[in-house]
Amino acid sequence: MISIIGAGPIGCYSAYKLALEGYKVNIYDSKGIIGKPIQCTGLLTSQASKLVHIDNDYILNKISVARLHAPNGKYIDIDMKKENIVIDRAIFDKNLAELAQSQGVKIFLKHKFENFSNGKAKINNEIIKPEWLIGADGPNSQVAKCSSLFTNRKLLIGSQVRAEMKIEDQKIMDIYLGNGCFSWSVPESEKISRLGVVSYEHSNNLLQKLVRENNAKILEHQGGLIPLYNPKQKLRNKNVLLVGDAATQVKPTTFGGIVPGLLAAREIKYLENYEKKCNKIIKKDLVIGLKIRKAMDKFNNKDYNELVNIFSTGKPKEIIETHDRDFPSKFILKLMLAKPKLLKFAWKAYWA
Ligand SMILES: Cc1cc2nc3c(=O)[nH]c(=O)nc-3n(C[C@H](O)[C@H](O)[C@H](O)COP(=O)(O)OP(=O)(O)OC[C@H]3O[C@@H](n4cnc5c(N)ncnc54)[C@H](O)[C@@H]3O)c2cc1C
Repeated sequence: MISIIGAGPIGCYSAYKLALEGYKVNIYDSKGIIGKPIQCTGLLTSQASKLVHIDNDYILNKISVARLHAPNGKYIDIDMKKENIVIDRAIFDKNLAELAQSQGVKIFLKHKFENFSNGKAKINNEIIKPEWLIGADGPNSQVAKCSSLFTNRKLLIGSQVRAEMKIEDQKIMDIYLGNGCFSWSVPESEKISRLGVVSYEHSNNLLQKLVRENNAKILEHQGGLIPLYNPKQKLRNKNVLLVGDAATQVKPTTFGGIVPGLLAAREIKYLENYEKKCNKIIKKDLVIGLKIRKAMDKFNNKDYNELVNIFSTGKPKEIIETHDRDFPSKFILKLMLAKPKLLKFAWKAYWA
């Protein structure tokens, strides 16, 4: 029996993949309802639909332009050759849970994992002895904590609201550089947008500012923690594995965790070889993303203004318009060659 802690998208997809291999899998989650509360913008690149089937009925919007705002008020429009989708995250999670159940996976809600020692897991007040225990229990993973796998991870705060506001064009998402790590407005319809900020600190204050500037009427708060990818993160200790946010598998550039988490979950079937297989697939891009993040963390407003200027025309713009941001390893060198001025920023990354 394999026990997975966490019925989020990555726990459910891992369960589905294991069940396809013939394993008996149980998922335990402390929540009472899958997918709620929502703590996500629900923005996915085209890569997501290569990994899982995404029904049109929970795609709320399609984004074709990313408008990058510099602190000096200038902006550029990045015409994304492959549209991004904005999903209803609650239905997305529920569908993945049903996919797992269709392969015989059992899901136990209101079951809180407490601890794990000597091969025994305590869930609510029951003791179970799984062959494999998989922690898909999010950024603050209790499974990681009980298995000496938590390490000294850094957690950021993602503050977000759904809000009614004036939206110029629902196909355009706005990304503001220099406000926290960055902030955003991602429309889900012609009147409602998801406004958010990711930051190491004060993210709520920064979000309030964004809300005021957009004269937005808040409908719902949807914040949560986001782990910063840690390249030293171990994914296995004996018969315990970690996946998804629990394993810090989140893009450090944009803090999207669904695509890297799904890519990792696809490898979970290898069990004792999962760590090796998984690192081969996702580590390179996460490490490059971390270098970019660490460099950006040192940017001042002048750097951001210059960066937006560099991307405003020519080859660099074309390169970011045609590549998915999931895999920076596929375009970072092209960018440097197209615009050697970018080396100035790479220098910051080198010393990060
Ligand atoms: C504000 C914000 C916006 C975001 N926007 C995006 C976005 O647009 N695109 C994107 O790709 N990513 C985004 N993310 C990141 C994304 O939400 C996560 O990467 C994703 O949810 C990770 O899925 P997971 O299954 O690993 O973990 P989670 O979704 O966190 O699921 C973990 C599950 O484990 C359960 N659990 C936790 N502890 C226990 C326990 N002790 N016992 C039992 N169950 C437990 C929880 O109840 C939960 O159901 C955003 C995050 C935030 C905070």
